[in-house]
Amino acid sequence: SGSLWVVATPIGHRDDISARAIQTLREVAVIAAEDTRHSRPLLQHHGIGTPLVALHEHNEREVVDGLVRRMTEGESVALISDAGTPLISDPGFRLVRAARAAGVRCIPVPGACAAIAALSVAGLPSDRFVFEGFLPPKAAARRARLQELAGEGRTLIFYESSHRVAESLADMRDAFGAQREAVLARELTKLFETVLGEPLGELAARVAADPDQQRGECVVLVAGRGEEADARLAEGERVFAILRGELP
Ligand code: SAM
Repeated sequence: SGSLWVVATPIGHRDDISARAIQTLREVAVIAAEDTRHSRPLLQHHGIGTPLVALHEHNEREVVDGLVRRMTEGESVALISDAGTPLISDPGFRLVRAARAAGVRCIPVPGACAAIAALSVAGLPSDRFVFEGFLPPKAAARRARLQELAGEGRTLIFYESSHRVAESLADMRDAFGAQREAVLARELTKLFETVLGEPLGELAARVAADPDQQRGECVVLVAGRGEEADARLAEGERVFAILRGELP
């Protein structure tokens, strides 16, 4: 039978796609894309003329059967999403699950993922971390979820929409404490890429006061509980280094 290629695409910079991803997308019979209009310019830029079929949250159930049938009959299919790695806060779970259940080989073609890109530059402990995806949009549910996470010792990673980021940072400050170290990674790989690291109290205040920090796409990372002590240690080291520089 054919295979299901799960292909990561860029999260901003259009050249953040592997040579193998481009080759794969050229060779498969069809590309299942979250939003075909969104993906077309990227595919065109990389000289990929493969036919597209839409696969999003609202039609995943219907489209999956047809795609799995095509694969069991020998055709290969690639799955992409609007940005980054499919299935990571993106559609595709049902397709991969159904393909595997039908005995179709699923092959990852790895690449960009906003959570991992953000973690790689945040300067927060990265040996163990928790990916929380999007918080609930409603305030009460969001605060309840944050409360549940207040004791988590591993670094927390959240996806957030820019129009809610100020509100979420304020809720995080209330749930985790103003001293907890956090990082806002915004517009990664794009023109206005910004990575701000501060205690939650200061970060929430800065973002609330600056509409520019409430634009674009963002990842919020929060140090796990118990890391505050380490952060204070790091701050002490920083101050010490400055003082040492001033000494004759
Ligand atoms: N599948 C994607 C991935 O692998 O990262 C994530 C898709 S999810 C629908 C979109 C969210 O990812 C955005 O709301 C934002 O939180 C995050 N994101 C995507 N691109 C980003 C970027 N360039 N900079 C910062 N965050 C980004």
